[in-house]
Amino acid sequence: MIDPVRVVIVGGGTAGWMTASALARFLPGVADVRLIESEEIGIVGVGEATLPHLRAFLQRLGIDEAEMMRATNATFKLGIDFRDFGGIGDRYVHPFGAYGVDLAGVGFHHYWLRARAEGSARSLEDYSLPIVAARANRFAFPPADGDFLSSSYGWAYQFDATKLAPMLRGYSEARGVVRTEGRVTGVERDGASGDVTELVLDSGERIAGDLFIDCSGFRALLIGGAMDAAWEDWSHWLPCDRAAALPTERLPGAIEPYTRATAMGAGWRWHIPLQHRVGNGYVFSSSFLSDDAACDAILGAVEGSPRADPRILRFRAGRRRQSWVGNVVSIGLASGFLEPLESTSIHLAQMAVMRLVELFPERTIDPADRDAFNATVDYEYDRVRDFLILHYHATTRGDSDFWNHVRTMAVPDSLAAKLELWRETGRVEKYGEGLFLEPSWVAVYLGQGQVPLRHDPRADNPAAPALTRALDELAGDIARRVAAMRDHEAALRAHGAWGTA
Ligand code: FAD
Repeated sequence: MIDPVRVVIVGGGTAGWMTASALARFLPGVADVRLIESEEIGIVGVGEATLPHLRAFLQRLGIDEAEMMRATNATFKLGIDFRDFGGIGDRYVHPFGAYGVDLAGVGFHHYWLRARAEGSARSLEDYSLPIVAARANRFAFPPADGDFLSSSYGWAYQFDATKLAPMLRGYSEARGVVRTEGRVTGVERDGASGDVTELVLDSGERIAGDLFIDCSGFRALLIGGAMDAAWEDWSHWLPCDRAAALPTERLPGAIEPYTRATAMGAGWRWHIPLQHRVGNGYVFSSSFLSDDAACDAILGAVEGSPRADPRILRFRAGRRRQSWVGNVVSIGLASGFLEPLESTSIHLAQMAVMRLVELFPERTIDPADRDAFNATVDYEYDRVRDFLILHYHATTRGDSDFWNHVRTMAVPDSLAAKLELWRETGRVEKYGEGLFLEPSWVAVYLGQGQVPLRHDPRADNPAAPALTRALDELAGDIARRVAAMRDHEAALRAHGAWGTA
C-alpha cells in the first residue's frame, strides 16, 4: 500500500474546514490531513449568504440539512433582491431558477420580450416561481416528482458564518483530521525545487508535509508569502475595497427568504436575515468614501437595533495568477476575492476543493494536474468577475462620483462581447459548466434595463392571443402554487431547521 500524502492545511476558517472535511470524506487513506489554525488570529466571520451549490457539497459529505441549519441559525434563500442598481427606485430579484418554461429550445425570455413589445406582458418576475415565493415570504421544497415549473428552482442558505467552520471541524476531526492550535511563524523550503517542506509554529513545533494548502485568508501566508504568487488586480473594474459590517436585531414579522443588495452612493449594502438576527454591511470604495462616513451610512440605513459597532473589513478584488504553485494550493480568500454581491466566495472555495479532490496528486505532483486546477480556478473567477461588473456598469445612475465612474469605465473584453451579443440578439453566452447560467444573466440584464434590440424570431409563434393566454395561465399557475406554500418561518420549523441560539 502507498503511504498517504501528508497534507497540511493552514487556516481554520470556512475554507480550511471545508477543505479538511472534503479530503477526509473523499480521500480516506489517501490523504493524511493536519490543520493548523490560530484562535488568536481568528476568522473573517462574515460571509452569510450562499449559492444552491453548497447543498450538493453538504449532501456529498453526508451532513444533514436540518442539523446544519439549526447549528448555524440558517434561513432559506431563493435569490437576491437587487434595489437601486439599474436606477434609483429599480428593483428586481435574481432568482435561483428559471423563468417560465423554454419552448422548443427557445428561452422563455424571448417570448416575454415579444409579449412586452406587443404590450401584453406582465412583469418578468410574475413568471418566476422562486421570485413570486420570495416576494410573498414563502418557501417549499421543489417536489421530487413535480413538473418543470415546480421543480426548476433551487435554494441556498443564509447562515451565521461563524458557526459553519466549527461544525465542519467536528465532522473532520471525527474522520481523522488532526488540528493543531498555533501560529505559523516560519516556512521551510527545499533549496532545489522551492517546494515547502515544513512549517514552524510559534511553539517551536515543526510540521512537515508533502502538500500544503493555504487557507490562511487574506494573509495568504504560503501562496502570497513563501511562494510569492503574483496577484491579478481587478480593482479598476471592481473598486469596492472595504465593508462596514453591522449585525442587527431581527424585527418581528416575516423572515425574508432572500438576501437584499441595495445600491448606495459608493457601493451597496447587504441585508441577510437569519433566524436570530440580521447581517448587514456596506461594501464601499475607499476612493469615494471614508470609513467613518460608511459607518454612519450603514448605521443610518439598518432597520433593527445594532448588536455591535460597525466593523471595517478591507479587501482587494482579484485573484492569484496561479492558485496552485509548486506544492502549495490556495483555497478561499488566500486564492482570490470577489465582493459578496452574488454570494460567490464560499462557492469558489467549494469549487476549488472539489477540483483538488479530482486532481489529488501523488507524492510527486504532475504539472498537468496543477495546470488543470489553475485553469478551472481562473475561468470560474473570471466569469464571476464579469457578472459582478455587469451589476455596476449596466446602470443609468449618475448621482455620485462612484456611479459615474463604474457606468463609464471600460469593461473586460469578455464582458463587452457578452453585452453586445445580448443587446443585439437577446442571447446569452452559453457555458457548459460553472457560474452563472442563462437565467442569471437574463435576470440582471433585464433587471437593470438592458432590453435587447431583437428577440429570437422563433418566438414569433404562436399568434398573439395564444401567447397572451399562455403567459396569463403561467402567471396564474405560479400564483396558485405559491399560495399553497408555507410561510418561510413555518417551513423552517416544519423542516426541523429552527435553532435555539
Ligand atoms: P478566514 O476566515 O480569514 O480564515 C483564515 C484562517 O487562517 C483563520 O483560521 C486564521 O486563524 C488562520 N491563519 C491565518 N494566518 C495564520 C498563521 N500565521 N498561523 C496559523 N493560522 C493562521 N462569502 C460568501 O460566500 N457569501 C457572503 O455573503 C460573503 N460575504 C462576505 C463579506 C465580506 C465583507 C467579506 C470580507 C467576505 C465575505 N465572504 C462571503 C467571503 C467569506 O467570508 C470567505 O470566503 C470565507 O469566510 C472563507 O474565508 P477563509 O477561510 O479563506 O479565511
